[in-house]
Amino acid sequence: MSRAFNFAAGPATLPEAVLRQAQEEMLEWNGVGASIVEISHRGAEFMEVARQAEADLRTLMSIPDDYAVLFLAGGATLQQALIPLNFAAPGQAADYVVTGHWGKTAIKQARTYVDARIAADGESSGFHDIPPRSEWRLTPGAAYVHYTANETIHGVEFRDIPDVGDAPLVADFSSSIAAEPLDVSRFGVIYGGAQKNLGPVGVTVVIVRRDLLERAGQPRADIMNYRSHVAGESMLNTPPTWNWYLAGLVFKWMLAEGGVDEFARRNARKSALLYGAIDGSGGFYRNDVVPAARSRMNVPFFLHDPALDAAFLKESKAAGLLALKGHRVLGGMRASIYNAMPEAGVQALVDFMRDFQNRHG
Ligand SMILES: *Cc1c(COP(=O)(O)O)cnc(C)c1O
Repeated sequence: MSRAFNFAAGPATLPEAVLRQAQEEMLEWNGVGASIVEISHRGAEFMEVARQAEADLRTLMSIPDDYAVLFLAGGATLQQALIPLNFAAPGQAADYVVTGHWGKTAIKQARTYVDARIAADGESSGFHDIPPRSEWRLTPGAAYVHYTANETIHGVEFRDIPDVGDAPLVADFSSSIAAEPLDVSRFGVIYGGAQKNLGPVGVTVVIVRRDLLERAGQPRADIMNYRSHVAGESMLNTPPTWNWYLAGLVFKWMLAEGGVDEFARRNARKSALLYGAIDGSGGFYRNDVVPAARSRMNVPFFLHDPALDAAFLKESKAAGLLALKGHRVLGGMRASIYNAMPEAGVQALVDFMRDFQNRHG
C-alpha cells in the first residue's frame, strides 16, 4: 500500500494515525461487540464519544463556557441558511463581507430570509485582496456581520479578526478552523464543515454564543432551530455518528501533536515554503493574492503557460502528489495544505515543482 500526498480541498487528507485507529476499530469498537456505526447514538457508549469529542474540541480551541458547541449534519451551506433564520428577524438587515466564492454562497443562502447587504466586496479586484476595514459599509442595527475567514477557492485569508462594533460577528471557518489559536470570545458564531481541517465530510461544527440563542429569529421547523439542537445535544434526530467519532479522533490527534499552537507553527512553515517556491520561480509559477491576504490553507497558483497544465497534473500525480487541479472557477492549480498535510508533503510538492520547471522551463 502506498498513500500519496493528497492536496484535495475537501474532502481532504486525514492524519494517517487516525485512519489506522479507525481501521483497527472498524469491526469491533471498544469491547461492545459491534462497530461504532452499528450502535445506538443514544446508548451510553456513543454518548461518551460525543461528550469526549466536544470536550476535546473545547480544549483544542479554548472555547469559553458561554458558547454552545453543536455537531450537525448538512454541511456549512446549511448553516449559511440557518444563521439568518435563527439570528435575524424577517427582512432585517444583515451585513456580508464577500472575499471570494464562499462569501457569495453565504449571501445567496441568506437572501430569502433577510435583507442581506454586501458591506464589502473583493470581486472587482478579482478577489486578490481583502477590502480594507475602513471601506466597509456596515448597517446600523444589522442582525450580524458575516465573513469568510478563509476563502478555500480564492486562497484569501483574514489574518486578523475584524472589529465590527456591536453586531455579532459570524464567521465561516470551514477551511481554517483550528489552524491556529483563535480568540473565540470575539465571535457570535463560528461554523465549519469538518471535511477540510477537522475530519470527514458529513459533520459540521457550530460554535454559538449562548445569548444569541435567545433571539426569536424567524418561523422555522424545530430541526432548523439551533436552540432545539442545543437542548437536544445535537441529537434531535440520528446524528452522523461515524463522522462525529472520526472528528473526535482528529481532535485527540491534534491535542497529542501539541494543539493549535503547534499547528500554527507547522502551517506557517508549510505555507512559507510553498509561497517561497512560487515567488522564487522567476515567473514560471504565479499566485495573484496580495501577500498580506494569502491563505495558509489553500494556495492557488498558475503556470506561466496554461498549455503546461495537463503535463503538470499528469506528472505530479505520477510523483505521488494528488488533486492539484485548481477549482473550475479559477483554473490553474491549487494545493490545499490543511492541518493533516505533513511538512514532508509540502516539501515533496516544492521539489517536484522545481524539477518540473527545470524540465519544462
Ligand atoms: C467547503 C466550504 C463550504 C461548503 O461546505 P459544505 O460542507 O459542502 O456545505 C463553505 N464555506 C467554505 C469556506 C468552504 O471551504
